[in-house]
Amino acid sequence: IQVIKVLMANGVMANINQMIDYDTAAIVANEIGFEAVPESENEVEIEKDLGEVPLWRQIIEREDQKNLIPRPPVVTILGHVDHGKTSLLDAIRHTNVTAGEAGGITQHIGAYQIESHGKAITFLDTPGHAAFSAMRARGAQGADIVILVVAANDGVMPQTKEAISHAKAARVPIIVALNKIDRSDANQDLVKKQLSEQGLMADTWGGNTMVVPVSAKQKIGIEDLMEAILMTAEEMKIMANPKGKVFGTVVEASVDTKKGVMATLLVQNGTLKMGDVVLAGNSYGKIRAMFDFRGKKIQKAGPSTPVQIMGLTDVPTAGDIFQVYFSEKEARAVVSAAKADAALNRNLPKATLEELFAKFKAGETKELCLIIKTDVNGSLEPIINSLNELSKEGEIKVNILHAEAGNISENDVMLAAASHGVVIGFNVQADPVARKKAENEGVSIRIYDIIYRLTEDIEKALKGMLEPEY
Ligand code: GDP
Repeated sequence: IQVIKVLMANGVMANINQMIDYDTAAIVANEIGFEAVPESENEVEIEKDLGEVPLWRQIIEREDQKNLIPRPPVVTILGHVDHGKTSLLDAIRHTNVTAGEAGGITQHIGAYQIESHGKAITFLDTPGHAAFSAMRARGAQGADIVILVVAANDGVMPQTKEAISHAKAARVPIIVALNKIDRSDANQDLVKKQLSEQGLMADTWGGNTMVVPVSAKQKIGIEDLMEAILMTAEEMKIMANPKGKVFGTVVEASVDTKKGVMATLLVQNGTLKMGDVVLAGNSYGKIRAMFDFRGKKIQKAGPSTPVQIMGLTDVPTAGDIFQVYFSEKEARAVVSAAKADAALNRNLPKATLEELFAKFKAGETKELCLIIKTDVNGSLEPIINSLNELSKEGEIKVNILHAEAGNISENDVMLAAASHGVVIGFNVQADPVARKKAENEGVSIRIYDIIYRLTEDIEKALKGMLEPEY
């Protein structure tokens, strides 16, 4: 506040999230009795790279700055199958929920909250990047921090790499939980080496990725992991305005034969109250009952609180963003308008190369996000190298979100959908499920059998000369 006052006195109308240049900062620092020291060039670079701004950051910029308070971080767990995601979620739940309650929490509503060192942390308890990407594809970003579980005896596996790509595409910080350290065949150093090859250099090795050794089975290291989360959250300055505009994300939803539609919502800003009219996707309704993750009735829920609500007309989709409206009439009108809109735009592909170029021209996008799948590992490098060459020439950057040998899978399509990217295949097929998903999500898949044709197409797209696909 003091900083903002000085800025205003100097004619700079700044808000709390605004970046100011170094010279201005130095003057302000001086006026309030501090000396400014420039950060290293390197750190400034990292700041600039944060292209995708999470929704909550965008919204709180418009909120009343004096009402912003830190909110608990929302954490999701990703990792290869069998590396211990579910076990870790259970271990965290049991270690940190007070003894008397632990036995009572048997229901899963898709999220839970624990307390550690007097601070709350919210966990999304549907692990896996399918859920993570499904949320992003709908414009939501449920998680602030990703815990990447890697089994110390098994190391970095295909889904570990996928998870890293998903988290990086979303620009969500990663903390590694190096699990199963109780096993005799655990090899922590080998896994750290493999992680460094994926761009995650352990802090103990001079990098900036926190790697926390844990055993979900023997409940070792769980507290260290919680500390790592709290430290990361503090650095990120995750804020919300409990008195502000109420919005959040649908975590999951289903129909209960007795209670009707039950939806788990994660409040990201404002305070959700009993009787509020909620609109989520194409579903709306007045909240008739509200429960916390323990199944206890509650009257209101602030930022980062997961709640289960009763009263929606239809089942919303996980990842839908919800908002509060003044009346059911208003919500109904918004839904009808949205449905009419959707009917007009049906089957319009979201991200064909041609469409993306239109966006480049309009200045909306400055990078072309690609997911690359090839028949063999040996084809990856030449393709990536020539695409990076193209990227250097033009104004628009090529951003390779994920590159791996293997057929095009549903996960590849979801990653593309979430990042408005395109899937490029070289001598591979798309799985039938992936094709269907691509159709539904409007993601374009392009398959080539000659590298030259592939790079030529991307070059044309970057220059805007590409003939339409159909
Ligand atoms: P997920 O597929 O990632 O959710 O993995 P699970 O949590 O289902 O765990 C897969 C298997 O690994 C199960 O048999 C667990 O009992 C076992 N497991 C999980 N964590 C540990 C651990 O810390 N140590 C050992 N030895 N086994 C573990």
